[in-house]
Amino acid sequence: MKQIAIIGAGVGGMAVAYDFAKAGNKVVIFEASGAPGGLAAGFRREGWKWSVERFYHHWFTSDHCMFGLMTELGLASKVVIKRPVTVMYYKGKFYPFDSILAALLYPGLGWGINKIRFGLVGLYLRLTSNWKPMESTTVDAWMRKWAGDKVYDEMWRPMVVGKFGERYASQVNMAWMWARFHARTTQLATYEGGFQQFADDFAAKLKEMGVEIRYNAPVQQIKPAEAGVTLITSSGEEHYDQVLFTSSPALLAKMAPDLPESYLKGLLELKSLGAVVMVFSLKHQLSKEGYYWYNLPKSAGFPFLALVEHTNFVSRENFGGEHIVYAGDYLETDHEYFKLSQEELQARFAEGLKKFNPEFDPSWINQTWLFRTNYAQPVPLVNHSKNIPSIETPLKGVYFASMSQVYPWDRGTNFAVEIGRRAAGLMLEAD
Ligand SMILES: Cc1cc2nc3c(=O)[nH]c(=O)nc-3n(C[C@H](O)[C@H](O)[C@H](O)COP(=O)(O)OP(=O)(O)OC[C@H]3O[C@@H](n4cnc5c(N)ncnc54)[C@H](O)[C@@H]3O)c2cc1C
Repeated sequence: MKQIAIIGAGVGGMAVAYDFAKAGNKVVIFEASGAPGGLAAGFRREGWKWSVERFYHHWFTSDHCMFGLMTELGLASKVVIKRPVTVMYYKGKFYPFDSILAALLYPGLGWGINKIRFGLVGLYLRLTSNWKPMESTTVDAWMRKWAGDKVYDEMWRPMVVGKFGERYASQVNMAWMWARFHARTTQLATYEGGFQQFADDFAAKLKEMGVEIRYNAPVQQIKPAEAGVTLITSSGEEHYDQVLFTSSPALLAKMAPDLPESYLKGLLELKSLGAVVMVFSLKHQLSKEGYYWYNLPKSAGFPFLALVEHTNFVSRENFGGEHIVYAGDYLETDHEYFKLSQEELQARFAEGLKKFNPEFDPSWINQTWLFRTNYAQPVPLVNHSKNIPSIETPLKGVYFASMSQVYPWDRGTNFAVEIGRRAAGLMLEAD
């Protein structure tokens, strides 16, 4: 029997714990915050039946690793599948963009060759599995060559700029874009009670299996020991056969300075963006048409990248009749949105809400909540697969499974499960 420690009770850390406990090992999870769920965690105001995710979350019906795990856990019956409406912006208006017919009717590309190129490129990316050669070129270069400048500038560039900012937009590799086409569906899913309920149910199952989860228990350092690994926490030192870390590469580099220079350098060279998300509880529905997800071009002057009306996906009856709206952005951590106060950001974002409904007035706001994280979106540059840190680090017994390693897939709880279970397999096999 092995004794292992997992740092982080996010979805990835819990997936590792599940496989380890199932194989009859002793598992302790150290979680810095007071609850499980990591970036997918939620909060619940008094009177709400469901929790609201701090950062907007849904699953795609193609998230097979996640649904497979839920079936094993006996939780699959709580998955709720819906088909909310996604829209694109064009010259001051929003157009549905979630079916072939809707794409055909979208006016941004006219009716000629551009629409055909757009359709053919989309079809190719959806059908091909050959992503590897695409990582040696940028989205910018590949799309301009195959879809053309008009299609790229109108359709995809705004999304890439929104996601990665002007600094990285022209450097992100094409395999990232392939993964988006390949792994996404128009049907979306959530969990009865919200993602926090899923994390709580998952943690409860782990507890039944004998896994110990310690909350408010940040690990300060990971040190090699004569046999195994030592963890340093505020309550002292503990010894384990193996340790897995599940948060950012930069944090691992800080916590495990005994890692060899080359591995540390690789961790520190990986690029990522943070996220700033404000959750609004409103008295009235923002989108009169009932739209859920708005793709927004930054060039059109919106003060955020993403506008998501959660209660056009999940019934507002779960939130005491309140309308829940997210406004958020992916940003470098020196951006002013990381410094502005909640009141200042609320004022700026509320101004932006008028663009979705001219009747919107700040008096509609019941309350807002502000969430910020430094580590939200890894940035895959050209030939990124060469830069992915190995799950098994050169420090014996120390393992690493994070959002930065799920490439070519974009980050997501489905891929946290996938990499977590892969890490568990490697750890179980090791002596
Ligand atoms: C804005 C945004 C939107 C997203 N939308 C979606 C979506 O729609 N669908 C989807 O599936 N995914 C989405 N994701 C991605 C998803 O949240 C992540 O891929 C997933 O939650 C990662 O899980 P993880 O376990 O790998 O890491 P994390 O969730 O980051 O968990 C790591 C855990 O480690 C803990 N920790 C860190 N340092 C220490 C320490 N020193 N000691 C102890 N504990 C520590 C943290 O508190 C955290 O709980 C989104 C993410 C963001 C930011």
